[in-house]
Amino acid sequence: MADLQLDSRGVIVSCPACGQRNRLAFGKLDAETRCGKCQGALAPAGAPIEVPDAAAFDAVIAASTLPVVVDFWAPWCGPCHMVAPELEKVARNAAGRYLVVKVNTDAVPELGDRFGIRSIPTMAVFVSGREAGRTSGARPAADIEAFIQSSVGQR
Ligand SMILES: [Zn+2]
Repeated sequence: MADLQLDSRGVIVSCPACGQRNRLAFGKLDAETRCGKCQGALAPAGAPIEVPDAAAFDAVIAASTLPVVVDFWAPWCGPCHMVAPELEKVARNAAGRYLVVKVNTDAVPELGDRFGIRSIPTMAVFVSGREAGRTSGARPAADIEAFIQSSVGQR
């Protein structure tokens, strides 16, 4: 699952059986999907996915059928590196329930500016295109899960 990618049209996964790359539409992330080539089952996204640009971000936030957890981070930020493996655990546990994405605020500064991100790591949860919760600072996976659940539940 390490090769998950995101573009403005969907999440791109490689089939574990045949290696074929498949694009999962944002509107179908909560549905079971099969490989277009071999018809093997494709597991839901179970790892954080790096957001390549603002267009892809806007597309996934607007169209995802799953709540989207966004980690705003940067390569020079020590606490961000501490939180990265915790976020990987969260994404693995949350496969099919939430989509976890990462925004490198150095690579896509436009998004950090737009959301007024002043300290990193900052995590935000988006549900149906709207921000439902936000928190700053590194924390363990269990705390991140609790933050996500309270954000999703408070709507
Ligand atoms: Zn396949």
